[in-house]
Amino acid sequence: MTQGFDTTAIHAGAAADPATGARQVPIYQTTAYAFRDADHAAALFNLQEVGYIYSRLTNPTVSALQSRIAALEGSAGAVCCSSGHAAQILALFPLMEPGRNIVASTRLYGGTVTQFSQTIRRFGWSAKFVDLDDPQALRDAIDDDTRAIFCESISNPGGYVTDIPAVAAIADDAGIPLIVDNTLATPYLCRPIEMGATLVVHSLTKYMTGNGTVTGGVVVDSGRFDWSASDKFPSLSAPEPAYHGLQFHKTFGNLAFTFHGIAIGLRDLGMTMNPQGAHYTLMGIETLGLRMPRHCENALKVAQWLEEDPRVVKVTYAGLESSPWKATADRLYPKGVGGLFTFEIAGGYQAAVKLVGALELFSHVANLGDARSLVIHSASTTHRQLTEDQQRAAGAGPEVVRLSVGIEDVADLIADLDQALAKATA
Ligand SMILES: *Cc1c(COP(=O)(O)O)cnc(C)c1O
Repeated sequence: MTQGFDTTAIHAGAAADPATGARQVPIYQTTAYAFRDADHAAALFNLQEVGYIYSRLTNPTVSALQSRIAALEGSAGAVCCSSGHAAQILALFPLMEPGRNIVASTRLYGGTVTQFSQTIRRFGWSAKFVDLDDPQALRDAIDDDTRAIFCESISNPGGYVTDIPAVAAIADDAGIPLIVDNTLATPYLCRPIEMGATLVVHSLTKYMTGNGTVTGGVVVDSGRFDWSASDKFPSLSAPEPAYHGLQFHKTFGNLAFTFHGIAIGLRDLGMTMNPQGAHYTLMGIETLGLRMPRHCENALKVAQWLEEDPRVVKVTYAGLESSPWKATADRLYPKGVGGLFTFEIAGGYQAAVKLVGALELFSHVANLGDARSLVIHSASTTHRQLTEDQQRAAGAGPEVVRLSVGIEDVADLIADLDQALAKATA
């Protein structure tokens, strides 16, 4: 990114359309693309020439979004897909085989804990969960079958921030990639690749689109990992039978992971992003640099107000002086720690449920990162599939309410919380 963040957010990947001059990125609502001739078709199918074949693999609107996100993250390439959860599978797929494992943070989005502790077992993969603030525990958890470390930069929903450089150093020593879920921070607040991450995944559903209209995801590749340094990553380093023995790393260099994600991942798993979703996300990203500071500013004010209120037991926002992660936040996330945090209400589970029902401006929905403020009681919804121990480990115990603070006038948000707390604790 040689230009500034906001310039990149508006211009990267989006020159005027060469065919029509259309200034905004068109929605290329097409399934297939005409080949010039039989040789052109053959070259495309052999991956000897880059171009459009079929929209399960590539689409010009989706490509524009990929270029823009790659520029914002400072990466070699990016592959968009149908959701944040799809992005996690797409990121792991080239790294894993039956019997292999990942080491993941205990502090993750509830759906990710379920995906990693239950669903990936069907592929013969497994996950070990460790507290990433304990470097020795992390080192001890890595074994000969470990193929990646996985964490969130700012984690959902517990007000925790990860010391990415420290975790990246451990991944480097072990010769395995670090995958960072950067959904809550966005590249505006955190650029994990600059801190040593190998791969970045996002749920574009959240702040990147920013208005609750799209379900989407992306896998971003730093292009820096040497997939051929060991025999751990044969999908990327060894001959690929489905492409006449092509070796992705040898052939595509720093774009090996990106090409594999399209040519194998999207081709065979089919978790493609649609062009309309890509268009909405491109529109959303144009204002990312305006929205994120406001989310951070509003969240800090609301968190500070709640912390002073006797009806509130505890607030977990890494931007508060009381947070155990304030020092890490100041060092690594100087622009702020986002719009999401949790608090514990006096009166436990019942009061939490009442509060959610009494709020008027905050919508009770299972989403975050919207321009409008949102609230959810994680224990009865997003973290419902987890045991109470897992809920507490993820910062989502029964008395915990999660807020996604929007970009409205903060005085109105505080007034809404004030009236709802009165009703919930009456
Ligand atoms: C929402 C979310 C996901 C999953 O994304 P979807 O787009 O809902 O599939 C993954 N990680 C984090 C941190 C999230 O907030």
